[in-house]
Amino acid sequence: MAPADDSRRTPTVVVVGAGISGLAAAWEAADAGADVVLLDADRRAGGKLGTASLLGRRIDTGADAFLARRPEGTAFVQDVGLGGSLTSPATSSALVWSGGRLQRLPDGLLLGLPSSLVSLARSRVLSPLGVARAALDLVLPGDPVPADVDVAVGPLVRRRLGAEIHDRLVDPLLGGINAGDSDHLSLQAGVPQLAAAVQGHRSLVAAAWLGRRRQRRHEGIGPVFSSVKGGLGRFADQVARKLAERGSRSSSGSRPSGSSGAPAEPAASTGGASSQASVPASPPTPWSSRCRRSPPPSSSNPTPTSAARLGDIASSSVAMVCLAYREDDVAHPWTAAASWCPAGTAG
Ligand SMILES: Cc1cc2nc3c(=O)[nH]c(=O)nc-3n(C[C@H](O)[C@H](O)[C@H](O)COP(=O)(O)OP(=O)(O)OC[C@H]3O[C@@H](n4cnc5c(N)ncnc54)[C@H](O)[C@@H]3O)c2cc1C
Repeated sequence: MAPADDSRRTPTVVVVGAGISGLAAAWEAADAGADVVLLDADRRAGGKLGTASLLGRRIDTGADAFLARRPEGTAFVQDVGLGGSLTSPATSSALVWSGGRLQRLPDGLLLGLPSSLVSLARSRVLSPLGVARAALDLVLPGDPVPADVDVAVGPLVRRRLGAEIHDRLVDPLLGGINAGDSDHLSLQAGVPQLAAAVQGHRSLVAAAWLGRRRQRRHEGIGPVFSSVKGGLGRFADQVARKLAERGSRSSSGSRPSGSSGAPAEPAASTGGASSQASVPASPPTPWSSRCRRSPPPSSSNPTPTSAARLGDIASSSVAMVCLAYREDDVAHPWTAAASWCPAGTAG
């Protein structure tokens, strides 16, 4: 009897983690004709994308919008049939706690970095001395970052623009978005919009100005952020539902061992399916410790090398607290999508 021709079989792709990364990977694999198995430790798909009810209103419990200028997010929403529910937040302006009160962010920031010293001075977020120190960036001798070298954002900003702008603007914004400390945040991973510009310029203000100009070209054709009516949790639910309709199998509800220190096993089982490819789309640490126990790397088994790289990615916990106030009880005109608080200040 002739051996079965494996190359003609539908490949099975196992995706571990049904957050938006795993859902997107599963969607792509299904598009490519693979038999998809989607595993998650949680009972519901979506990971950090979730929606809850607070005083009769639907609110997002994680991400509430995605960058509209990246076409992939919008295309994915349309692909799963929610194109008619695309919406954009009413405001994208933000406040920062500075000088004992909430203040509007200066116009023209690129992730906390000023593209205009005039707007910076007008905003009064910095002291006059802080603005003067930031202006030195235009005349300080250049120390360009070579293209193949990555640096931490914090020290670079302090060196060029001074400590005040770092502490009051850059660190709260970048630290808040990345749940981390800008002194340990890679320029290339944390502020890719700036990383390319910095390589050609000694001045961070000039690099931010160029980055903003590039952004404005895109902003001219639509809103900066998009979301889905009913919340992004609805979007995740819809992807999971559509994947099931397309024949993808999923298994959920197996608990990872989490913070106990014991390595977590990928959840559940593949129902006996042998996979041609597996996609780790869950937090890096469990994968890292599990894959390090694999046989030595080879061209057919590169996992220990990948695992070592994953293990180098630091992560931290984030707490989400949802509060609702009666409008009459709030003195401040809350017309902002976000407010930031510098580390160490009590707001
Ligand atoms: C409060 C908050 C607000 C945010 N706001 C925004 C925003 O407005 N815009 C934006 O673009 N981004 C935002 N983000 C970031 C964004 O939500 C995340 O980057 C994104 O959702 C991560 O998706 P993911 O699939 O990579 O990971 P996750 O969503 O973390 O999914 C990982 C999945 O893996 C599962 N898992 C874990 N361990 C195992 C295991 N051992 N076996 C099997 N499964 C496992 C988990 O249950 C989870 O479902 C925000 C994040 C937070 C926390």
